[in-house]
Amino acid sequence: MPSSQTSAMQTIRVDYELPDFSRTGAANSVQHAWARVPQEPTQAERSALMERIAGQLKQKNAVLVAHYYVHPDLQDLAERTGGLVSDSLEMARFGRDHAAQTLVVAGVRFMGETAKILSPHKTIIVPELEATCSLDLGCPTDAFSAFCDQHPDRTVVVYANTSAAVKARADWMVTSGCALDVVNHLKDQGKKILWAPDRHLGAYIQRETGADMLMWNGTCIVHDEFKAFELEALKAEHPGAKILAHPESPSAILALADAIGSTSGILKAARDMAATTFIVATDNGLMHKLRTLNPGKTFIEAPTAGNSATCKSCAHCPWMAMNSLQGLAAVLESGGNTIEVDAALVERARLPIDRMLAFTAQNARAAQAGSGIVPNIGAA
Ligand code: SF4
Repeated sequence: MPSSQTSAMQTIRVDYELPDFSRTGAANSVQHAWARVPQEPTQAERSALMERIAGQLKQKNAVLVAHYYVHPDLQDLAERTGGLVSDSLEMARFGRDHAAQTLVVAGVRFMGETAKILSPHKTIIVPELEATCSLDLGCPTDAFSAFCDQHPDRTVVVYANTSAAVKARADWMVTSGCALDVVNHLKDQGKKILWAPDRHLGAYIQRETGADMLMWNGTCIVHDEFKAFELEALKAEHPGAKILAHPESPSAILALADAIGSTSGILKAARDMAATTFIVATDNGLMHKLRTLNPGKTFIEAPTAGNSATCKSCAHCPWMAMNSLQGLAAVLESGGNTIEVDAALVERARLPIDRMLAFTAQNARAAQAGSGIVPNIGAA
């Protein structure tokens, strides 16, 4: 999580882990990145910015797709203007299938890249080109490619939270919503898997499937921070509450959870479970949608720090937080911040994504034919 603040620049330093497989034991080193902190607009500024953005979207025949973790203003604006707020998979799928030739992606960079890979002829605009992800940063292409070269007998499965170049090195891309099904499918075919980059999600899938999985050692800086001891204490204060956890959380958190799922899976569990109070271990950006969709239920953020720390729950991605109304309005009016991906890379990176999309579409059809229930195919 952010470890220091330099208010003059309105940026924070963000530490993340970089795995090093050239050393025995795959030790991780701590690296430093940064994130910009946007100013919260006043109510009057907020209304004016929303008007400007809505006008620009119309003028440019553009559609806004926003991730569940970005500011509630952007989520609401996306829905109000005919766009979508969702997980990374649905964002990309919606953008690909929408008639608009310009997609505005409020999230982090890899989401913009995925949209470009799936819609290479469309213009992809992001509010912040420098909004990144610790999983993406912690899985550099050259090091990952060398790791793959060392294990040519393994099927390479990468999470959505990776660069276009890392996806281009993979056989499959998965999201947290379909990873279990894909890995089970590969296991049934007798495949051994090389998994990257999130070690907690990988370990969860390995426990659930029993597949032979070799892990890259990356983490999400948000989910990695949840603390089991503090969570148990919070649960003791709310004995009737159910714990909902994202599988990027450490195994000690998942062991306490009543339901484990992607963002879409957590939304579904909150809707379907009879409890009225939930403790939620994922980025607190999801609280907006949880509370909007379940007005009679109470949602409490899972704690992220030990007793001695001052921050008890700062579970919000600093890069998702870079997305702002001000930034988006400025970008739409200036015409900047387009995402470009090399054409050869698009062609190669599309293969593992298309493989996943075909697989999830087939699974959805089978599930609907069999049970009438729409399956959870959510993503990070
Ligand atoms: S919440 Fe975690 S996985 Fe999502 S973008 Fe931020 S660092 Fe990456």
